[in-house]
Amino acid sequence: MQPIFFADARAPVTDVANWYQPEMSLVAKLEKLIDESGVLDFISSGDIVAVKTHFGDRGTTRILRSVFLRKISEAVKERGGKPFVTETTGLGLLKDRSTAVGRIEIAEENGITHQTAGAPVIVADGLLGLDYVVAEIDGKHLKRVHVAKGIAEADAVVVATHFKLHMRAGIGGSIKNIGVGCVAKPTKYDIHVPNPPRIIAEKCTKCGKCVEVCPTDAIIDFQIDLEVCVKCTGCREVCEYEAVEIQPWLLGEEIAERVVEATKGVMDVVGKENFAFLNFMIDVTPHCDCHPFSDSPLMSDIGIFASKDVVAVDKSCLDRLVESPKAPDALIDGFWQNTAPERQLNYAAELGLGTLNYRIIEI
Ligand code: SF4
Ligand code: SF4
Repeated sequence: MQPIFFADARAPVTDVANWYQPEMSLVAKLEKLIDESGVLDFISSGDIVAVKTHFGDRGTTRILRSVFLRKISEAVKERGGKPFVTETTGLGLLKDRSTAVGRIEIAEENGITHQTAGAPVIVADGLLGLDYVVAEIDGKHLKRVHVAKGIAEADAVVVATHFKLHMRAGIGGSIKNIGVGCVAKPTKYDIHVPNPPRIIAEKCTKCGKCVEVCPTDAIIDFQIDLEVCVKCTGCREVCEYEAVEIQPWLLGEEIAERVVEATKGVMDVVGKENFAFLNFMIDVTPHCDCHPFSDSPLMSDIGIFASKDVVAVDKSCLDRLVESPKAPDALIDGFWQNTAPERQLNYAAELGLGTLNYRIIEI
């Protein structure tokens, strides 16, 4: 039974005459949770520590707030570590979120800066999302995982996750924060699409825009050289004639399994023992922070779950999600259609990333 340490988001007023109770703040509870659980105590003096969160997109308003990141950064420093707050780029080349420049601008717009988060803010997979270290794995779907270089080189990773639903992975917990969030573009592509991109000759007008945008000069005679292509999807973004085919986008069990295999690749490189997980079940939205908008939360805030086990921490949150009353207008069914969140957890356990058995210890 893996212990999951839990801080309740609710702040019951025990003394109605005393409105000033700063210890009731969830930020204060986070500090207590980190100290009493000991989940960050593996950090050694001088360790460079990635605090991995989701920066959201322009218009996303329910990402993990910087006050929590700041508290995590402080806790890392107290243990002698050198934290940096990090994220990776999204697929594509043209959208703001697709490059490190845009990612940092979005982070600032959403309140995550060195000043607010208490640590430098660094994009882990480089300017274009093509800085990576390759991990060889023997997955059912993936054989190579392109681990973001800034994650691969870190001594430790604190996975700080806004737990929510996800339109393809089912849930966006710690597993997804690593499997999708700690990899560079080639593996982001491989998670979502099993086939490489290809140019459909009958549709191609030979306008040359894709050739211009391709960061690896992979397009020769209007065909993609798959030995050189890094699957950034930039060619599809610029093509006005829908001549670049990228399909099928996966759903259900297969994408759940691909996310898990990518997670395994990242954890193999960094070392499973060098991770800690903090899942925040607050503002649980029906979709991921990558959406350029935020919906109403599905349910009341639950609290923070801390663990050294990536499977157990996500399982405990999924269980709470399922059993908790939902808001009357919650969009849960629509967004969960055709996803397989249970498969994500079961497969992660099968691959030895953690255990499905846990017990909650409330602090
Ligand atoms: S951008 Fe589209 S139409 Fe133009 S050359 Fe590339 S594939 Fe062909
Ligand atoms: S050919 Fe490959 S590397 Fe070049 S733009 Fe298209 S997806 Fe990116």
